[in-house]
Amino acid sequence: MKKNIYLFGPGMGEGNAGMKELLGGKGANLAEMSNLGIPVPPGFTITTEVCTYYVQHRKYPSDLGNEVEQALKRVEKAMGAKFGDPESPLLLSVRSGARASMPGMMETILNVGITEETIPGLIKKSGNERFVYDAYRRLIMMYSDVVLEKAQGIDPEEHGIRKQFEREIEETKKRKGLKDDTELSTEDLRQLCQTFKAKLKEVLKVDFPGDPTEQLWESIRAVFKSWMGKRAISYRNIEDIPDDWGTAVNVQAMVFGNMGENSATGVAFTRDPATGDKIFYGEFLPNAQGEDVVAGIRTPQPLNEATKAVLANELSSMEETMPQIYEELNSLQKKLETHYRDMQDIEFTVQEGKLFILQTRTGKRGGAAAIKIAVDMCEEGLISQKEALLQVKPEQISDLLHPMVSPKAERTATKLADGLPAGPGGAVGQIVFTADDAETQSKEGKKVILVRAETSPEDVHGMHVAEGVLTSTGGMTSHAALVARGWGKCCIVGCSALNIDVSTRTVKVGGKTLKEGDWITLNGTKGTVYAETLPLFPADPEKNLSYKKLMIWADEIRGLKVRANADTSEDAKLSRKFGAVGIGLCRTEHMFFGPERIKLVREMILADNKEMRQKALGKLLPYQKEDFIMIFRAMNGMPVTIRTLDPPLHEFLPHNKSAQAEMAKQMRISPEALREKVELLSEVNPMLGHRGCRLGITYPEITEMQVQAIMEAACELTKKGIKVLPEIMIPLVGTKEELHNQREIVVRIAEVTKKKYGVDVNYLIGTMIEIPRAAVVADEIAEFADFFSFGTNDLTQLTFGYSRDDVVKFLPDYLENKILANDPFQTIDRKGVGELMKIGIQRGRLKKPNLKIGICGEHGGDPKSIAFCHQIGIDYVSCSTYRIPIARLTAAQANINSQ
Ligand code: PEP
Ligand code: MG
Repeated sequence: MKKNIYLFGPGMGEGNAGMKELLGGKGANLAEMSNLGIPVPPGFTITTEVCTYYVQHRKYPSDLGNEVEQALKRVEKAMGAKFGDPESPLLLSVRSGARASMPGMMETILNVGITEETIPGLIKKSGNERFVYDAYRRLIMMYSDVVLEKAQGIDPEEHGIRKQFEREIEETKKRKGLKDDTELSTEDLRQLCQTFKAKLKEVLKVDFPGDPTEQLWESIRAVFKSWMGKRAISYRNIEDIPDDWGTAVNVQAMVFGNMGENSATGVAFTRDPATGDKIFYGEFLPNAQGEDVVAGIRTPQPLNEATKAVLANELSSMEETMPQIYEELNSLQKKLETHYRDMQDIEFTVQEGKLFILQTRTGKRGGAAAIKIAVDMCEEGLISQKEALLQVKPEQISDLLHPMVSPKAERTATKLADGLPAGPGGAVGQIVFTADDAETQSKEGKKVILVRAETSPEDVHGMHVAEGVLTSTGGMTSHAALVARGWGKCCIVGCSALNIDVSTRTVKVGGKTLKEGDWITLNGTKGTVYAETLPLFPADPEKNLSYKKLMIWADEIRGLKVRANADTSEDAKLSRKFGAVGIGLCRTEHMFFGPERIKLVREMILADNKEMRQKALGKLLPYQKEDFIMIFRAMNGMPVTIRTLDPPLHEFLPHNKSAQAEMAKQMRISPEALREKVELLSEVNPMLGHRGCRLGITYPEITEMQVQAIMEAACELTKKGIKVLPEIMIPLVGTKEELHNQREIVVRIAEVTKKKYGVDVNYLIGTMIEIPRAAVVADEIAEFADFFSFGTNDLTQLTFGYSRDDVVKFLPDYLENKILANDPFQTIDRKGVGELMKIGIQRGRLKKPNLKIGICGEHGGDPKSIAFCHQIGIDYVSCSTYRIPIARLTAAQANINSQ
């Protein structure tokens, strides 16, 4: 005979964690805890097979009734109460629990077993009449909605009986001038129960069942039926969960923390979730239900002395008032953490001196805490180094790379408002309302926070000098968010509670009015705003011992090397601090934008002939050379990949009238003549136009100047005994002839320069693989390349045919309609772009088996893409500075996961 029911509870676990298919996630977990000796409220799981049977046959297996009866007897015995008994009634919860979590998709019914007959016994036992009628009205509400109404096929959204009940509650409150449900008296609740029942009869033409057994069986049926409900089916379609998995039903004894002074309820963490400190941390409320903790009417009390110290909460602790139960809880939390090998978030209830664990799950934590917990647990011998590395989410690392609001101070501070966490870290400063004010006031030495409705490119000067940016509108990809993230600046967007008035320099929020100069604090990692100054911890990951250890472990285990995309010596220095082992992309064009240089660049671009062009380039040479000297010095012996000029020249030209007039004056031509030249250079599709190696081919003198600058810098430093490893990279190559052409120029100039200085410098010549054709003919291209670097920004643009700059116009629709699962510019599209990368690697190494291959598109800093790069045999990823430690950890995780 097939077993349909599995018992759980202290000393009676019949299943185990491995039986998710049969018992569902929740059932398997309850069984596992029972086997561990954790006092979960006893109960039983009706298997998923019964669900499948029920869905197919519209009836239960014949022996189910018997089995439920037997199981219920065991539960009654364990609880010392009886289901339906007038003296000492047992109450039950009936919940769904599928193999995969389907939050909120199926039904739950609580307090099953309250009837007019059991009420007096419950009142006697609890000594709390109000609690009993409150539990009863909740049962009537849930049962009427989930069991009775759905059985009649009524759409609860439109005519829901529950809505009608809620209206009754509102009316009672209005009549009595009450604000909260908790203010309703015992009599109010008793009355409401009667009204609900009458309404039920009137609307659905049924009686609320006075038979507890009927309540139980109808609740079980409702849960099984909810597996085939509309909500559950559409969720399964989206999540690819097969219909024939079925759900289990968990029937469990209800326990109550509001049965008098010897009862309590609370939440605890096996370590401090804010700091990661190894203290048992938590709060509890004597004589209360879980909801009372959430509702915030009563101030929770600290669990123990350690929590008391952290919260500066002087109320008496559980350790003091219920020492025995506290000791039991304390030993259970250790057991749970050891068993689950991670910090746990535990919900517990004490019913008349008896402790029950209601739930344990992996506890949420911030970045710094996550790192500390992982490293501590490894050093305590609880988990291995590999497990510690897998326990930290890569993105959590970024918390350490920015100044952070003190978690301790934040715990006791009053929140002003919430927005979207657009740029990580913390910031403290005085409010300013315009970018110009930000600039002036920061020049006066003030720390400012720029508060705007939204930002635009005109605001960047103010954003740059501000400690942080706060906007009332915009999403995670709004201008403010993108700019702030790029700079590693603290930023909160979409904080809709702000009502900003720039003209009066005030902002209204939650009944408060703040004005220019008022101090605020932003937590950009969480998106929280405070109207006070909170202490900040400076970003100095090097001072964080746990971080340092974790990173050493990561570096020992990872296969991929991590380089930086860095264009300045400041970025280069920072990238070394963050652990880069080289520069994988130095975009030389960014060096051309300084006020002195842009004029020379424009002179070069607008030159009428080669001679004039060479003259302008000659003036640019010393600037470029100086840049390279600084970068090589900063990298001191590490490889530096420098890319020759890439963007369409048009990007460097003046587009507004006044800049054009100034330029014309300087060139001694008329503004009209200048405008004509600018127009001549404009292209219909500049991204597909005269850019990349095409520039170096039409104007070889540009490549010549750049190589001369690189090699002169390298030779000068080599002479001084500093090791330099230049890697010259040609962009946008699609044919071997293009690379051949540029390679000849590089070699010629490099050799001449070396000879001139009389020193030898090892240099490499490589290419970006960013045009689909280059990936396909990679074997031919490899002939002229010492290395490849995938430019996945352009490769994605050209493979999909989506303009990088305009994709935002349709991407949200594509994501919403599931035409794309991800933004392909953020996470590599494995099927298309990834396949081209595989072809490129395979064909390139066919020609040169040891060809060094990297990636320098934005994907080099994206965890999912890094894992892919590891799989396909890439040697290094190159990413923006602030993502380097994230990439190091991800690379280690990729290696561990592939072992
Ligand atoms: C790329 O295309 O991936 C790349 C790194 O180059 P850029 O973004 O400068 O075009
Ligand atoms: Mg590119």
